[in-house]
Amino acid sequence: MAEDNAALLASVRQCTLCAPLLPLEPKPILQWHPAARILIAGQAPGKKAHDAAVPFADASGERLRSWLGLTAAQFYNPRLVAILPMGFCFPGTGKSGDLPPRPECAATWQQALLQQLTQLQLTVVIGKYAQAYHLADAKPTLTATVASWQDYWPQKIPLPHPSPRNNIWLKRNPWFVEDLLPVLQIRVQQILASGE
Ligand code: SF4
Repeated sequence: MAEDNAALLASVRQCTLCAPLLPLEPKPILQWHPAARILIAGQAPGKKAHDAAVPFADASGERLRSWLGLTAAQFYNPRLVAILPMGFCFPGTGKSGDLPPRPECAATWQQALLQQLTQLQLTVVIGKYAQAYHLADAKPTLTATVASWQDYWPQKIPLPHPSPRNNIWLKRNPWFVEDLLPVLQIRVQQILASGE
């Protein structure tokens, strides 16, 4: 990685900007290399990812990897997959799940990191916060945006959060598994093959 990019990544990893507003110590959790061809644009790390200091080190990660058809080794290869949530540090937990990502984070870091991802072929946009940031014309609801996935294809694809909390959503929307995932998995395999 060029010196400037290494310095940028080091700056992110040392960030303490919103420390007073976080429930635990700042621990930015991201995966990034300018050669990445797939971007996972997520929400914010959960407590398990915070403890492990590894993005998606939880049941959500297992489901996301199976949705994409990626092995753990492929998923955690930063030269293939960049993982940039809208907030890099665990934001804490509220009454109905994790709190929203800290808004300071995207405002401070996203543009500088995204600008260097010049090899991107696919952005996987997970959850409503990433949809609002990455999709210029996101629909009024998350479900409507995901149902309109072909509007963003093939550069971007909106997904629901892969959390087990969304099992009911998955049951109510069988087209997601039947129609969307097979197309997504073929595209991911094509991107993998493009680097061989
Ligand atoms: S959430 Fe983002 S802006 Fe806040 S301390 Fe962590 S890296 Fe810095």
